[in-house]
Amino acid sequence: MTLDQTTIDRLAATPIPPQRLLIGGHWVDGSEAPLPVLSPVDGAQITTLSAAAPADVARACADARAAFEDARWAGKPPAERKKILHRLADLIDAHALELAVLGVRDNGTEISMALKAEPGSAAGTFRYYAEAIDKVYGEVAPTAANVLALIHREPVGVVAAIVPWNFPLMIGAWKIAPALAMGNSVVLKPAETASLSLLRLAELALEAGVPPGVFNVVTGPGRITGEALALSPDVDVLVFTGSGATGRRLLEYSARSNLKRCYLELGGKSPNIVFADAPDLAAAAKAAATAIFRNAGQVCVAGSRLLVEASIHDAFVAALEKATAAMAVGNPLHLSTQIGAVNSLAQLDGNLRFLADARAEGADVIRGGTRILTETGGYYMDPAIVTRVAPSHRLYREEVFGPVLAVTPFETEAEALRLANATDYGLAAGVWTANLSRAHRMVRGIRAGVVHVNTYGGADVTVPLAGAKQSGNGADKSLHALDKYTDLKTAWIRL
Ligand code: ADP
Repeated sequence: MTLDQTTIDRLAATPIPPQRLLIGGHWVDGSEAPLPVLSPVDGAQITTLSAAAPADVARACADARAAFEDARWAGKPPAERKKILHRLADLIDAHALELAVLGVRDNGTEISMALKAEPGSAAGTFRYYAEAIDKVYGEVAPTAANVLALIHREPVGVVAAIVPWNFPLMIGAWKIAPALAMGNSVVLKPAETASLSLLRLAELALEAGVPPGVFNVVTGPGRITGEALALSPDVDVLVFTGSGATGRRLLEYSARSNLKRCYLELGGKSPNIVFADAPDLAAAAKAAATAIFRNAGQVCVAGSRLLVEASIHDAFVAALEKATAAMAVGNPLHLSTQIGAVNSLAQLDGNLRFLADARAEGADVIRGGTRILTETGGYYMDPAIVTRVAPSHRLYREEVFGPVLAVTPFETEAEALRLANATDYGLAAGVWTANLSRAHRMVRGIRAGVVHVNTYGGADVTVPLAGAKQSGNGADKSLHALDKYTDLKTAWIRL
């Protein structure tokens, strides 16, 4: 795929028709008033989003249920389902730039990252789970000679997926691909500010041969459309990535409705820990900047807390400032941009409030932290580095989901570990050290789903992402994710 600015500009100028819902294989209008879609690139309205009312959601869930019951998908030979998901992956690749540009106009991620992280990642995820279809077996249990015990792995039925706006295709694929691969029906609820690329994905899924009713998309406000989906008695399993506040609500909805199983990925406040003996401090400083500032910090595994050994604190922070200043903030549709737009004005306001609170609590905002490029009409923020952040500060404990880095010094390995674990979250971490034993001790001691050593980010689909503590439960990615989308059934047969 050659990425050239002219093609991007042409795609970015393409008008986007009003969007609709996909229910039972048909594109239909939602019963609520459509929502305007504002582009974070320049604040302009680029289209409208259909908004599904509870009745529309009920129809989507009923259609998904009917599609599951008549086995139009789960009943197909595995090789056939595999072929269809491979075809979908090929279609994603064939439309990669179109999908990436559409997504960027909607959510503001810089295009250089979006192309790889969105269609690129999603196509790979569909291929990975397509291959699992004819490679994951049931089991035969060790029993006495007069018994044969078979353990079947069966689809759960209807899976509802509620996904966020930071990486809609990547995170969407983490849920949709394994759910479909295991033979389930899916009802997807994208985020209000990042639905467009997922709606296009749904079109491609139909084109690839996913039968009507098997994959449905309902868009609209979280408190109307999302809530109706999470309350639906037709949904067997609910998978979610988003905020802790919404995650709590989903558990309540489950309790109030049919006790559907809920798997939640709820973000993090991930520590990136730099020891003085790191093999390459310059590389660590650059990585520390990209770990928090790419996609304007809107990354669930972002390294948002930098813990630095006190002896190198000042020199490291200086290198970090330099690395940050070298990152171009601006129009996410420009290939040279390294930090794109903040997704929405509400998110930008929230980011700025964190900085005001940090100042009030006694931390130092040593760079950035203001809205910039207002003349564009878009939502841009100068990346912020905040030093002297203490564990009691809001900025230490709460996820900003923006380009704001909290820096805290430590003296010893034991203190680093204590500081690393001193939040309610446990999603990701980074450790920079040349000492192998120390690296392994830190990996063991840090409570997180993924610990990077002498790098940050990049863990691919072959490994699980499973939050610890209040970062959630259940794994996305890898074969472990299949556990969420399958039920075990024992056949105990007397011979
Ligand atoms: P953020 O605050 O970062 O937007 P949210 O958790 O609110 O994160 O959003 C993630 C997803 O959850 C979005 O698709 C959103 O529409 C949906 N959502 C928000 N509130 C609810 C709710 N009460 N019930 C179901 N889904 C919701």
